[in-house]
Amino acid sequence: MKTDIKQREVIIIGGGLGGLSAGIHLRLAGCRVTILEANELVGGRANRITEQGFTFDTGPSLLNYPWVFEDLFSAAGKRFTDYVEPIAVDPSVSFQWRDGTRFNLSSNLQSLLAECERIEPGSRPGLLAFLHDASIKYRMSFEKLVNRNEDNPLKWFSALAPGEISRLSIWRSLDSELGRFFKKRYIREAFGSYGMYLGGSPYDLPGLFSILAYGELAYGLWLPKGGIYGLVEGIERLARELGVEIRTSHRVARIVVEQRRVKGVELQDGGFIPVGQGGVVVSNVDVPTTETELLAPAPARYSAPRMTPGVMTFYWGVRGKVEGIGHHTIFLPDDFRRAFNELLTEKKIPEDLPFYVSVASETDPDLAPPGDSTVFVLVPTPLLSEMPELGKVQTVDKVRRVVLDRLSAERIVIDPSQIAVERVLTPEDWRRRFGLYDGSAFGSAHTLFQVGPFRSPNFSRRVEGLFFVGASTTPGTGMPMVVLGGKLTAERVLERVR
Ligand SMILES: Cc1cc2nc3c(=O)[nH]c(=O)nc-3n(C[C@H](O)[C@H](O)[C@H](O)COP(=O)(O)OP(=O)(O)OC[C@H]3O[C@@H](n4cnc5c(N)ncnc54)[C@H](O)[C@@H]3O)c2cc1C
Repeated sequence: MKTDIKQREVIIIGGGLGGLSAGIHLRLAGCRVTILEANELVGGRANRITEQGFTFDTGPSLLNYPWVFEDLFSAAGKRFTDYVEPIAVDPSVSFQWRDGTRFNLSSNLQSLLAECERIEPGSRPGLLAFLHDASIKYRMSFEKLVNRNEDNPLKWFSALAPGEISRLSIWRSLDSELGRFFKKRYIREAFGSYGMYLGGSPYDLPGLFSILAYGELAYGLWLPKGGIYGLVEGIERLARELGVEIRTSHRVARIVVEQRRVKGVELQDGGFIPVGQGGVVVSNVDVPTTETELLAPAPARYSAPRMTPGVMTFYWGVRGKVEGIGHHTIFLPDDFRRAFNELLTEKKIPEDLPFYVSVASETDPDLAPPGDSTVFVLVPTPLLSEMPELGKVQTVDKVRRVVLDRLSAERIVIDPSQIAVERVLTPEDWRRRFGLYDGSAFGSAHTLFQVGPFRSPNFSRRVEGLFFVGASTTPGTGMPMVVLGGKLTAERVLERVR
């Protein structure tokens, strides 16, 4: 019997950006949607810490592909900028090497050309060719691959003409792809460093991922007023206005399944919420966590995908202005290949630590008390299972020391006495607070055989009525991708559940 769409009950476990997006799209299709979020605030990894007048975004700090968010609001007949006030960040990201080289990205083509020419004399034609090539890859990827549900690899690829497949540079590494356009290490390393967020090194990730750097250059980098959490608040407001019911501080202990069909969810406080006939559960909790904890006992044959690294994040409320640094800076090591190798193969914190610093108060001074700075530091680490001592005080102290030393070597002085507020999240904290599997910051890796139809699908193959949304399912990780993923999951629910 077909259930009337208006009677269809949808429970979404987790109010991360993917969960909110799926909730909005399913509500727009007429379903009754309830989001159950374990924490006090929605947003998931994109959360907020406030202390003594300092406002920190916990996770994401680089907002790109604004068109994805505009599309989400326009699907509901609303205007993005009526809910969120995006501020352009330009120059966007700076890359800094130990030898003093600094490379500033910009979405302004003339500035970018001049900067590339300064870093790599003669690189102008290479940059123009790179932008042209990556723009085609970007358009093809979003129009033909990313934006649809397809589980059959042959059908997935058949959306592309043979010439288009070879243009995607799937069989070439990201580093050699970049090497087609840039000869010196600096631009290659800067654009290749994005690979870390995808869980691979530029020496093994597919060349297709040159679109990450391109997307940021072409569509700009943004900070919503109020920080990234300003975006979450805008999306939460939209969801509530549409009638999505959001219950925070509601932790789900178990997804209840009977005869291979989802029946509802059991809360940690013992309560049971049924989904009724034809109802569905969408889990926004990291897929391997859902499989191993919420659907426990996990099937013997479940093998978790390869995950992206963990992160140790520091939140410093610093008295005064931090001189010599802009909003976004990535500090790169001397031996780039070795650092990736140490992190991903030897499974240790690299000796010459690459890390990222965001001083969001540079763009939105209201994020700190007058004249002060909000500083966020992100250090990539192995996974919890690979380095169990990650949560120890000694490890945190050592990493903090290395970061401060490198900053001061670059003449960016933050004296520990200036740090009025400090919060730290170790990979174990990320796991416990947000359910991130093995402490992995960005979810499943985007290696060649973990993208598109090879990635964990957004529906369960063994439990009818169970769906997934978020970083570890399709299309992948990052705020824009999980928001796009919310639409894809909603389409999947509507097409599969009769
Ligand atoms: C440190 C860091 C920096 C990042 N930087 C960027 C960036 O600059 N730009 C970018 O685009 N992306 C960035 N990302 C990636 C981006 O944050 C994620 O890809 C995206 O936010 C993940 O969204 P999601 O939908 O998978 O949900 P998640 O954020 O994983 O949310 C899942 C939700 O489920 C809830 N939950 C878990 N278990 C339960 C349970 N049992 N019951 C109820 N609720 C539960 C959690 O509390 C959480 O709210 C970063 C991530 C991290 C960690």
